[in-house]
Amino acid sequence: MRTFNFSAGPAGLPLSVLESAQAELLDWQGLGTSVMEISHRDPRVIAVFESAQRQIRELLAVPDDYAVIFAQGGASAMFDLIPQNLSPASVHVLNTGAWSEKAIKGAQRHAAVTVTGAAPYVDVPALSPVSGVDYLHYCHNETIHGVRVADIGTHQVPVVCDASSSIFSEAIDWSRHDLVYAGAQKNLGPSGVCLVIAKRSLLNADAALAPVFNFAKLDAEGSMVNTPPVFAVYLIEKVLAWITQRGGVSAMKAAAQRRSTSLYAAIDQSDFYSNPVAPAARSWMNVPFLLANPDLDAEFVRQSEAQGLMFLKGHRSVGGMRASLYNALPDAAVPALIQFMQHFEATRA
Ligand code: PMP
Repeated sequence: MRTFNFSAGPAGLPLSVLESAQAELLDWQGLGTSVMEISHRDPRVIAVFESAQRQIRELLAVPDDYAVIFAQGGASAMFDLIPQNLSPASVHVLNTGAWSEKAIKGAQRHAAVTVTGAAPYVDVPALSPVSGVDYLHYCHNETIHGVRVADIGTHQVPVVCDASSSIFSEAIDWSRHDLVYAGAQKNLGPSGVCLVIAKRSLLNADAALAPVFNFAKLDAEGSMVNTPPVFAVYLIEKVLAWITQRGGVSAMKAAAQRRSTSLYAAIDQSDFYSNPVAPAARSWMNVPFLLANPDLDAEFVRQSEAQGLMFLKGHRSVGGMRASLYNALPDAAVPALIQFMQHFEATRA
């Protein structure tokens, strides 16, 4: 029995993807072994990587002069690896929440950093056109604070975007982005891979860092500088095919808007639940909400889990609840959550 999984990440995967992997676990492509148990240099494994890269290019309309690579170390590694690959002297960061803060700390280890924005993270601060630094970094969707940057605007410097918790939920405007990265474990697959899509002209094969973390080398070697997380990429390839079957990124966007709009409406029309984020800055993927009486938080979590509505407890830094509405969430999940919330309110208010 599958429950409704509102986890912020790692998050639920499409059921058909799990079933397909299950069916192939003992015997992949008639080899009498799983994909996990053979060389990453096998042409069939290389074909999986190429298929994943091709589908990413198609689904996100990635221009040809951008590299599509699977990096290791998760999105957190990118907070240092992006400055190490791009060798900036100075970076500007738009700060919209906890993950922006981590990007600031990472960049500060390698460059002079200036910042726009500060806590409390309930809106996107106005950002004047940025110039005079080596790049601008921002987080498209703050997973903890539930803040989405609807439009980064145009800038005179390259723009780097952490899209870990929103990639494949809406299109990316490549005229405004030079490097986009995303940890896989929300909308893309299991943990262990960070997707990096970067303009090749920004990359430097001679950057002073380990070759396995060098984006230019990863691009040149098909993301196989060393043994990559093959099983993770194998699952990602299946998730990408699932996105295509469902109608691509525009269908994911429509679902995200539908789900988040109905959940915010339920929160806003109640005095029992609240979300502090300005409507235009609200995330479509992560909906944090507070109960007016925090003494009821534990009871809310207990009762929701008894109904099969899992992992709604909010991040420890903000408290309350958080419903993550990633692509793979079944359509029935948000109506079930709203029904539960209204019932809980009616019995506890
Ligand atoms: N950026 C964002 C926006 C995230 O949500 C997360 C993880 N929740 C990270 C970065 C860090 O990802 P990882 O755990 O893969 O390092």
